[in-house]
Amino acid sequence: MKFDLVGHEKQRAALKELYLKGKLPHSILFCGPQGIGKKLVAQELASMLLCEERGKDTTFGGCGRCSACRLFLKGNLPDYHQYDCKEKFSTANVREALEMTHLRAYGGKNRVVLFDNIDHISIQSANILLKTLEEPGDDLYFFLIAENPAMLPDTVVSRCHKWHFNFLTKEEISRIHISNCAEKDITEILSLSGGSPGQIINILEKGIDWNSAHISFNSILEGNLEEAIALSEEIAKDRGNLRQYIAILAMATRNYLRKCHTNREKELCAAFLTKLFHAEKMTEERNININYLFAELLSELAYEKFIS
Ligand SMILES: [Zn+2]
Repeated sequence: MKFDLVGHEKQRAALKELYLKGKLPHSILFCGPQGIGKKLVAQELASMLLCEERGKDTTFGGCGRCSACRLFLKGNLPDYHQYDCKEKFSTANVREALEMTHLRAYGGKNRVVLFDNIDHISIQSANILLKTLEEPGDDLYFFLIAENPAMLPDTVVSRCHKWHFNFLTKEEISRIHISNCAEKDITEILSLSGGSPGQIINILEKGIDWNSAHISFNSILEGNLEEAIALSEEIAKDRGNLRQYIAILAMATRNYLRKCHTNREKELCAAFLTKLFHAEKMTEERNININYLFAELLSELAYEKFIS
């Protein structure tokens, strides 16, 4: 199950123009909500930088025919490296990632290193990155992808050119073609994704009963404390899919946020989204009791609603 990049036309055109003028920044921070295609834009840009047919008519995303483009599509191009900082990403991993930046470009002129979910990187790892981000070298590009750039040290953010990406519009989502996905699921994606289809697709891929989790969470938002305990247990039992559950909760909260009438409700939702992000980070960094963590988070949310 995958989908092609749609939307973000302004940013894509502007990035291409900068590149053609030889003014593309070497360290770029792609910011915006999860699942809207930031990484796809960065990958397309990388593919253009690495394509052997670079020139005036170059297409965003590369020509797709030259050997560099073909290797890129297969994930085998030695001049392109991609890391997910949500996966266990230690300081040793960062050092290893930076090692390759000392090598000469294998094929074409450029090399690209993409760090996905850079906002999940530890302070120690971020510090190691700093120096290289400042002076990457003429042929080296760093693309950093972040949902919450505020979680990054200022020193990292200030060394990058920040590009913002927004939720996709309904019209843009309707243009998404998803392979291996039933029509019914696509309609559901439209209703829940709230402009962030990438996450839903990932959830469908894992075969999670997102609809039942969604209904359960909505009931928590209405003040159902028992449901808070039940959903925490369900999440803890399915620990391998924790990220997907967190994505469901975040999407449902954002959906709810759009319908909130009072400032207090809005603040509650915004605070919950922040706590959710921290909870995810905590579970990545240490071995934590998921059931306890989510029981506390969700009960607190239900309780706040319950007393209001
Ligand atoms: Zn090419």
